[in-house]
Amino acid sequence: MKNRDRLRIAIQKSGRLSDQSQDLLSKCGLKFRSSRDKLFCFGESLPIDLLLVRDDDIPGLIEQGVCDLGVVGRNVLREQELSVRARGEAPLFGELRALGFGRCRLSIAIPQELEYEGVAQLSGLRIATSYPSLLGDWLRENQVDARTVVLSGSVEIAPRLGTADAICDLVSSGATLVANQLKEAAILLESEAVLAGASVTPDDERGELLELLLRRLDGVLQVRESKLVMLHAPRSAVENIARLLPGGQRPTVLPLEGDNDEVALQAVCYGAITWQHLEDLKRAGASALLVLPVEKMLA
Ligand code: ATP
Ligand code: MG
Repeated sequence: MKNRDRLRIAIQKSGRLSDQSQDLLSKCGLKFRSSRDKLFCFGESLPIDLLLVRDDDIPGLIEQGVCDLGVVGRNVLREQELSVRARGEAPLFGELRALGFGRCRLSIAIPQELEYEGVAQLSGLRIATSYPSLLGDWLRENQVDARTVVLSGSVEIAPRLGTADAICDLVSSGATLVANQLKEAAILLESEAVLAGASVTPDDERGELLELLLRRLDGVLQVRESKLVMLHAPRSAVENIARLLPGGQRPTVLPLEGDNDEVALQAVCYGAITWQHLEDLKRAGASALLVLPVEKMLA
């Protein structure tokens, strides 16, 4: 790996992951010069630069040491990981963090008129996909002897064109499948955008930058799921109420002026706070309930 004193992150130039990747990096405090249509953006707030590329190129750029990090779908990362392994080599990149956006699944879909009775039924079929390694791996694991037809795009029309009997493709809402008279039969992989990085941390300045960025990223990811819950409660109910708060953090308990029985309680909670949560808290004695978003967090 070449010695560099600036960290380089690759993200998708334009596509489903672009906006949220940019947004995530900006929440981590990264600012870049240069406009979005350029390939390279210089980092102004930290020595961390941005490369805007096609998502398929990201694992390879990390492997070659051109970039240190990348935001890419787990589907793309795993596919390339498996294809490196198939060459008998060990991949030099891997998943560092799941990022919680770009969620989809890699699934096998069959024509709507077919009744799906299990994996064995796929034997002898031609399955069109852009993910031959992931599909091949799954077929082997399930001992299904099917033929893989590799297509780089528009996989969903292959059955209608007669070039395949089924497909293995990304699904999110399922609308594309319905539009092509297909239905989901089996899920091969649950995917989302991930932060990918080199398997070995660089031992120059970039190592420290990487750690700093990961710390900020963990804070941002945690904040996204966090709420500050504030409420009043009788002192005797505090223990019960603390148990009802999702996230398990110990609450701060403060006295209320002129009231010896009631206290104010606040706690950072992780995960969604639903109406059901609030109603349960109320039943346990809470009043004056407030749920506030958390802006920043550093553990
Ligand atoms: P590029 O030009 O960068 O190669 P692309 O066409 O390969 O772009 P997009 O369609 O923008 O890629 O999808 C990028 C990623 O978004 C996918 O690899 C996947 O992880 C995720 N994704 C989420 N939902 C879907 C979906 N319904 N269909 C396809 N990809 C999805
Ligand atoms: Mg692509």
